[in-house]
Amino acid sequence: MMKKFVYAFSEGNAKMRELLGGKGANLAEMTVLGLPVPQGFTITTEACTQYYEDDRQVSPEIEAEIFEHLAKLEELTGKKFGDPSNPLLVSVRSGARASMPGMMDTILNLGLNDQVVEGFAKLTNNERFAYDSYRRFIQMFSDVVMEVPKHQFEVIIDQMKEAKGVTLDTELDADDLKEMVVRFKAYYKEQKNEDFPQQPREQLMEAVKAVFRSWDNPRAIYYRRMNDIPSSWGTAVNVQTMVFGNTGNTSGTGVAFTRDPATGENRLFGEFLVNAQGEDVVAGVRTPQHIDELKDIMPDVYNQFCDVAHRLEQHYRDMQDMEFTIENGKLFMLQTRNGKRTAHAAIKIACDLVDEGMITPQEAVCMVEPKQLDSLLHPQFDQKALKAAKEIGVGLAASPGAACGKVVFTAEEATEEGKKGEAVILVRLETSPEDIEGMNHAKGILTVRGGMTSHAAVVARGMGTCCVSGCGDIVMHEEEGYFELGGRKISRGEYISLDGSTGKIYGEAIPTVAASVSGDFGRLMAWADEARQLKVYTNADTPKDAVQALSFGAEGIGLCRTEHMFFEGVRIKAVREMILSKTEEQRRVALAKLLPMQQGDFEAIYEAMQGHPVTIRFLDPPLHEFVPHTEAEIKELSEEMNISVEEIHNVIASLHEFNPMMGHRGCRLAVSYPEIAEMQTQAVINAAINVSRKHPEWKIVPEIMIPLVGEVKELAYVKSVVTKTADELIAQSGMELHYKVGTMIEIPRAAVTADEIAKEAEFFSFGTNDLTQMTFGFSRDDAGKFLNYYYDKKIYEFDPFAKLDQAGVGKLVEMACKLGRQTRPDIKLGICGEHGGDPSSVEFCHKVGLTYVSCSPFRVPIARLAAAQAAIKYPR
Ligand code: ADP
Ligand code: MG
Ligand code: MG
Repeated sequence: MMKKFVYAFSEGNAKMRELLGGKGANLAEMTVLGLPVPQGFTITTEACTQYYEDDRQVSPEIEAEIFEHLAKLEELTGKKFGDPSNPLLVSVRSGARASMPGMMDTILNLGLNDQVVEGFAKLTNNERFAYDSYRRFIQMFSDVVMEVPKHQFEVIIDQMKEAKGVTLDTELDADDLKEMVVRFKAYYKEQKNEDFPQQPREQLMEAVKAVFRSWDNPRAIYYRRMNDIPSSWGTAVNVQTMVFGNTGNTSGTGVAFTRDPATGENRLFGEFLVNAQGEDVVAGVRTPQHIDELKDIMPDVYNQFCDVAHRLEQHYRDMQDMEFTIENGKLFMLQTRNGKRTAHAAIKIACDLVDEGMITPQEAVCMVEPKQLDSLLHPQFDQKALKAAKEIGVGLAASPGAACGKVVFTAEEATEEGKKGEAVILVRLETSPEDIEGMNHAKGILTVRGGMTSHAAVVARGMGTCCVSGCGDIVMHEEEGYFELGGRKISRGEYISLDGSTGKIYGEAIPTVAASVSGDFGRLMAWADEARQLKVYTNADTPKDAVQALSFGAEGIGLCRTEHMFFEGVRIKAVREMILSKTEEQRRVALAKLLPMQQGDFEAIYEAMQGHPVTIRFLDPPLHEFVPHTEAEIKELSEEMNISVEEIHNVIASLHEFNPMMGHRGCRLAVSYPEIAEMQTQAVINAAINVSRKHPEWKIVPEIMIPLVGEVKELAYVKSVVTKTADELIAQSGMELHYKVGTMIEIPRAAVTADEIAKEAEFFSFGTNDLTQMTFGFSRDDAGKFLNYYYDKKIYEFDPFAKLDQAGVGKLVEMACKLGRQTRPDIKLGICGEHGGDPSSVEFCHKVGLTYVSCSPFRVPIARLAAAQAAIKYPR
């Protein structure tokens, strides 16, 4: 049978999302539910994939199928495409499987041309409306399909309004709009050297191709990368009969949510505009009215809409984000989807739906995007400082959170400064999809125009970035590098603070305080903990980090790095003394100075962790990282140690390595200088003994982790140093103390020989940062320079250091787990690379049956939720 590439709305349903895209599947589902949906058809995502396979051509077969469906639509509506006496007009809308807001553009009123518009004016007895629709079509088609720069259209509109002395589009009359069409077409011709296309069928096919093409535009690619959406999915195209919100004052268009997407509050929330079409609400051209006002203007439509909204929420069992149009007092539904929401709202809605009996706690756990939690875990404004701060203005509270940073005016600046680690606030008249990367790098977004559903607001909420929109009091002087607000003049680079929960703007930096996991957040996490099978540990080198992680629900430390402890104050001197030592004896003297400091560190960590497991990794970095680099420091050191400057230079030179990452580091240090491992063992065991004396109930079992092992014999050697030292100390103490020695699996050879390694190692911890580096053969410090070329050429779709490469590195992890268990069935398996806090990587760790994942303190709740979702999706 031939593959079907086009489906009428009446042929689909919500389950066909992969094929029809989210928008198409939900339009079909609403049709099935009997809701008022303008009819149409969906060209499948497979047709998009086919388009790319056919070298960016729509095959004749697919084209024929499209026109078959168009003919059926003509029959259904009684209108004819291109017929001036009763024209069928359509919208052409993109719609991928996962919603990609603002990423791809919609074309409205397609099917109009110079003749059709005249007939349409007669038919509707509304010349103004007909020409308004035509000028909109020319504008959208030119921009989206023909890539004619859109700015000039706005300039023409502004010029015409100015000439007439009016401020609103709606104040232009039919003649003005006719004139506008003439000017638009002239501009088009000037740009393209040809007349504006007059053939509706050609317009349709060009529009379809433009939607397919838009799947591959840079904004879409960037959005996909940020949201883990594979490029192979493709987008569907929806062709839908037009309904018109711009026929006059009994018409309009709007966007609404069944619950408040910022707070989660259970009330209808949204905006609409009278006498407007499509994008007007989102684009922030006019400031829209609150949905509650519809009650007064059109009470029947309002009540009907409330019913529909309620039905949709009950049907989908989730908060819905709906788009609608009212044509001459009649309601039409144009879209519904599970609404994007802030993390705060996501949690409240999930808990409320459980309380309302609509969903189970497990479903609630699956409803919240783990990465989103990030915005709740980061600091909020210090309440005292906030009260003391002076407010200079207020806008709409579009996306909650606290942001403080330096003012920038362009997305490029935001990206540049953000990459340098600077906190910036992006201040714009309004944002557009081109700004997405800059928005992602900004701590906060402030716009002059646009409502709660403007582009800036929608995108910021999706990113969990604080946003205040529509602050009309701001006077921008972007070119001069400043803006005015509340009597203040604020220049580029000055600090401001935004409160995304109140919309308030402060002309100063306001300090922030840490967040906590309580209330609904705590409830959700408790449900998550019940569901998950993976334990969640943290990577923490200090008692402060350990305490932070515990408060976020960490169950242990999976990685305590010891080298950070070597850099502070007086310690670094002892470390340098050790490095400059020429004999073992000298080295032991220096190490003896380090011992009490290191032991104190471990005691503090054991105290902080109150008996939770702690894995301590022995010294890992190459020694040259500890030597002084400036001449002044070298001179100081030479005086202190009574060694000549020249001699120090010699040592530094001797430590130089061509490939330090593959050089004299990890267990190789302990093989060369076993006394270092000896000292570290003493520090760990003494600390455990001392803390155990005070708290025998904690039953501390030290876990010592030897890094960078690639060969079982090197592990066996270092382990013998550790056990000899540890056993002596324990015997002397007269205490009973068990300890474990294990290793990191971070060299491919270790993964491949894990059955051998497990003879010595009592636990494995996958160090997937190094393992990724060694498996790919590129350094994580340098890969940033060339990975962009790989993304552009679609060789890689994501950064393997952020998201575990399951096909390659993951295979090694899986193999090592299997081999390790063969030798030692009860071996403890964990991961301590960056991947331990990445949701898709956590899912992988669950599937291969690790005992725990370990991640930075701020990602602990994210990992807990991701682990729960993995366990629900793939029961072990
Ligand atoms: P996006 O994915 O950017 O939201 P949509 O395809 O939903 O793009 O289109 C944007 C807006 O265009 C809709 O919210 C709606 O107001 C308008 N629109 C789309 N199709 C139609 C139609 N058939 N009739 C009237 N308005 C439409
Ligand atoms: Mg759009
Ligand atoms: Mg939409």
